Amino acid sequence: MITLQSPVESLTRLKEDTKIGLTKLGIFTVQDLLYHFPARYADESIFISIQGLSEGSTATVRGTIKKIVAKKTWKTKMTMSEAVIEDVSGTMPVVWFNQPYLAKMLHVGDTIELTGKVTMYKEKLALVNPVVREEKALPIDSHDSLFAADETGVLTPIYAESRGVSSLWFHHAITRALTVLETIPDHIPTALLDQYSLPALKTALIWIHGPKNKDDAVIARKRFAFDEIFSINIARQKERAQVKEQVAYAIDASGTDTKDFISRFGFPLTEAQHTAIDHILHDLEQSVPMSRLLEGDVGSGKTAVAAVAAYATIMNRPGTLEKKQTFGSLQVAYMAPTEILATQHFESFIELFRYTGISIALITGSGCRKFPSKVASNKDNWTTISRTQLSKWIANGEIPIVIGTHALIQKSLTFKHLALAIIDEQHRFGLNQRKGLAKKDSHFPHLLSMTATPIPRTLALTIYGDLDLSVLDQLPAGRKKVMTELITPDKREIIYEKIRVILQEGQQVYIICPRINEPDKDMEQKIQMKNVMSEAKRLQEKIFPEYRIGILHSKMTKEKKESSMLAFVRHETDILVATSVVEVGVNVPNATVIIIEGAERFGLSQLHQLRGRVQRSSYQPYCYLFAEAKSERTMERMKLFLAAKNGFELAEYDLQLRGSGELSGTGQWGISDIGMEALRNIKLVEAARQAAIALVAADQTLTQYPLLAEHAKVFEKIHFE
Ligand code: ADP
Ligand code: MG
Repeated sequence: MITLQSPVESLTRLKEDTKIGLTKLGIFTVQDLLYHFPARYADESIFISIQGLSEGSTATVRGTIKKIVAKKTWKTKMTMSEAVIEDVSGTMPVVWFNQPYLAKMLHVGDTIELTGKVTMYKEKLALVNPVVREEKALPIDSHDSLFAADETGVLTPIYAESRGVSSLWFHHAITRALTVLETIPDHIPTALLDQYSLPALKTALIWIHGPKNKDDAVIARKRFAFDEIFSINIARQKERAQVKEQVAYAIDASGTDTKDFISRFGFPLTEAQHTAIDHILHDLEQSVPMSRLLEGDVGSGKTAVAAVAAYATIMNRPGTLEKKQTFGSLQVAYMAPTEILATQHFESFIELFRYTGISIALITGSGCRKFPSKVASNKDNWTTISRTQLSKWIANGEIPIVIGTHALIQKSLTFKHLALAIIDEQHRFGLNQRKGLAKKDSHFPHLLSMTATPIPRTLALTIYGDLDLSVLDQLPAGRKKVMTELITPDKREIIYEKIRVILQEGQQVYIICPRINEPDKDMEQKIQMKNVMSEAKRLQEKIFPEYRIGILHSKMTKEKKESSMLAFVRHETDILVATSVVEVGVNVPNATVIIIEGAERFGLSQLHQLRGRVQRSSYQPYCYLFAEAKSERTMERMKLFLAAKNGFELAEYDLQLRGSGELSGTGQWGISDIGMEALRNIKLVEAARQAAIALVAADQTLTQYPLLAEHAKVFEKIHFE
């Protein structure tokens, strides 16, 4: 019998390239297949495959740009754009005469619709001067846009495709699955469906894959949007309830002199830092484990807040509030996403904690360090030690603060009295990771998770539904504002000359390559890599031959990335040409300029985060947004960008103006497109959240809802990078 869990192969025989295509799209089971929803619906009659083109006819073709260049015709020197378009059936050339700007507006990897006359060009069938329509992912609440402009015939679902699996293939396979499966049990309680007038699962599946009219498709999408947000919330609320049952060390923060510790910082805390510290210390005083997220832009001073939490913790001895040990101290683990960041945290903690005389350790893939050194002549410094030795000291509780990368959560490492885990820039740090850290002793660590990734409130409420939220929404006083300017192509040379002066003064520069949008992530990274390499080469040969240029992109290994970043930190390179991978990151105070190429293609929040890279220095920082055209829309967005107070505000704009695809980190949250669309709908998000809270409060183990429990499991997965 075929069930949702059966492999797709049980429905129909699969050709080898279909198998590869499905794997690429992450489709293995019948359930995966049914949840591969159409990206949109089209009027069947209008599209023609490239294979099916005939000379002289007018055709509309939908495909992906493989290549696009601006040229001049050989004899007449007329300007033109020339492209190669690919659909599932093949490729064809496209030319536009007298429209060289098209080559700048359109990009390799874009999916477009072209309507024009089929003509022979260089001995191939081609479209000449076709009308272009760019495809957009469209929001749940502007219904019309999901559908073809002039709907006449049957609504045909159009799916995200891969080589070997076309929309038509999906259509047939899904129709077959829906016929074979007589009933599909619904994991959403009927009472909830009734409350929000949503269709049952099987109906919704039929409607979303083969709607008779727009309304069916819209209501089906609403159901799945609610379903997903609700299920994520169920997973998070369950986790929250489980954490609350654990026992943590209650930390007496009043007895410790945090004021004295803070007074040594050499700067007054911002109002926001004060508030966050109050929240955290209050949480730490409870024996219920803290689960708190600290959100704050790059440079908002999260490390200082973390240091205060760490200080309050390690000033406490193990034991209960009533009955403390008379020796030893509680321990803190501080985890960072990269080795360089962990090392930077280690160095700043040494400065902050030096006067206390306590020990601090660093543990990464490439080795371990301990401060202070045992050697008398080196008392003020750290020393390298073996992992075995360090593990012993951590296990017997001798080292109160341990900073590190993922190496921190490896099985071989055990803390004696771990009371607090501080996690920097991890998308999720779940129950199991926390349990893993706690190992030997029965206490559960408090959790302080920190992020500078600007996300809108609806997304935070959903993916961090198990955490309480503190926000650092102001930067420390006296920070130099980054001078930000929009630069059109004609001003490029002037800016390069300005930068040359800055480089001569010994400062460093980031150059960020344009963002590429490709459904196929592997392809996207390949294109990015090529862009970075060719831009670095161009700059080295033509613009800045006298300077040292480094590169950074996501196709590099973790080690290569770290060493390239380290070379930049050490000023062994002057210019770093990179993709936006540089955004989570490292402090290079000497880098004072950032150029962002193709700036109009980034989300505002992502631009903001990139700009934050140069806000660390005492020099005046600059951010130059290189845009291909100064369109009205680009100018509008620029105004918002210049006016916004922080990245979180910009994330809201991104979501509302252009949709979830604009948010940085999209794809890392483990939320589908339909779920991301739903995030624009605060009412839906609130309703789903409240419903989940109520349900878990009434039935924590979901005993009455086994299907829901099973369904929500998917969202318990942790999304580490
Ligand atoms: P992030 O939030 O990005 O982790 P950091 O904690 O690294 O930011 O802080 C950035 C810099 O600002 C550090 O050099 C830190 O010492 C400094 N800083 C933090 N808080 C303040 C403050 N209230 N006033 C002045 N400087 C501060
Ligand atoms: Mg930080």
